[in-house]
Amino acid sequence: MIRLTNPDKPLYPAALHVTKQRLVDYWRRVAPFALPHIAGRPLSLLRCPNGAAHGCFFQRHHRRGLPAGLKAAPIAGSDGEREEFLFLDDLSGLEGAAQMDALELHIWGVRFDALERPDRLVFDLDPDPSVTFEEVKRAARDFRALLEAAGLASFALLTGGKGLHVVAPLDDALDWPTFTGFARGVASRLAADDPARFTAMATKARRHGRIYIDYRRNDRGASAVAPFSPRARETPSVATPVSWDELGRIERADAYCLDKVERRLAALRADPWAGYFDLRQGVSPAALRMFAGT
Ligand code: ATP
Ligand code: MN
Ligand code: MN
Repeated sequence: MIRLTNPDKPLYPAALHVTKQRLVDYWRRVAPFALPHIAGRPLSLLRCPNGAAHGCFFQRHHRRGLPAGLKAAPIAGSDGEREEFLFLDDLSGLEGAAQMDALELHIWGVRFDALERPDRLVFDLDPDPSVTFEEVKRAARDFRALLEAAGLASFALLTGGKGLHVVAPLDDALDWPTFTGFARGVASRLAADDPARFTAMATKARRHGRIYIDYRRNDRGASAVAPFSPRARETPSVATPVSWDELGRIERADAYCLDKVERRLAALRADPWAGYFDLRQGVSPAALRMFAGT
């Protein structure tokens, strides 16, 4: 157990009961579900020393004075320079993150033990404010179908913000350029098939009335919010894995808060992402060809 300073500090101006201590209690309950997604991966922490309202900043490098439980290991950048990046592998790391006022944990699509072999494909669906959540859900199902056609099972994550992530675990057979190219190919195919609903281009003007498919989360060095991470938004919402069946009945991406996730996990009969950690699926040469050059 780590030493917590200022345990009574409120972290959400709109939910004063959510203190640092409350965040640690959340991690203690949720760790068995969260750690398999987070452990051993390079991590970016969104630290909010003044609470979720303002002044949050990302930290992904080692700094002196890290709480016990947070670790660091070297990664070579594109210039070959090695830098120390954060990771954790047990509950004390989650507690350490809370001690640093990290409200959000973001993971890379790769593990430290195979840094050049990404294994987590994520499509970040970012709706323009005029797009309804029903439309975002439909987009997620379209991704699921397209990935299914490529032989890949996928899973839905409520981000706790505005949109959804569609996640496919992969074996580690692809290098970064092939992995990123495949992600771009899938996203571009959907955008080309239905340009009124989607854009895969970052240009702000293109997003009007559409869903932006942010496939760049699949670049080396990019991150996506970790399953079960709280969000530094107005309310203490949580990035929550849901089953495709459940998704049909959910009305908002921020439908789950800390309390609700704890209750949900305590009552859960089946894992909403059943099979996620047992899947051994890869991108076949045929699937690579299917989305090449798009
Ligand atoms: P929403 O559903 O509201 O879009 P989100 O988590 O998908 O929630 P995005 O703004 O789409 O939020 O960002 C996607 C991901 O990009 C984040 O989860 C985060 O991991 C990463 N990201 C964005 N900005 C930064 C940043 N400045 N530094 C590090 N990572 C970032
Ligand atoms: Mn998003
Ligand atoms: Mn995004």
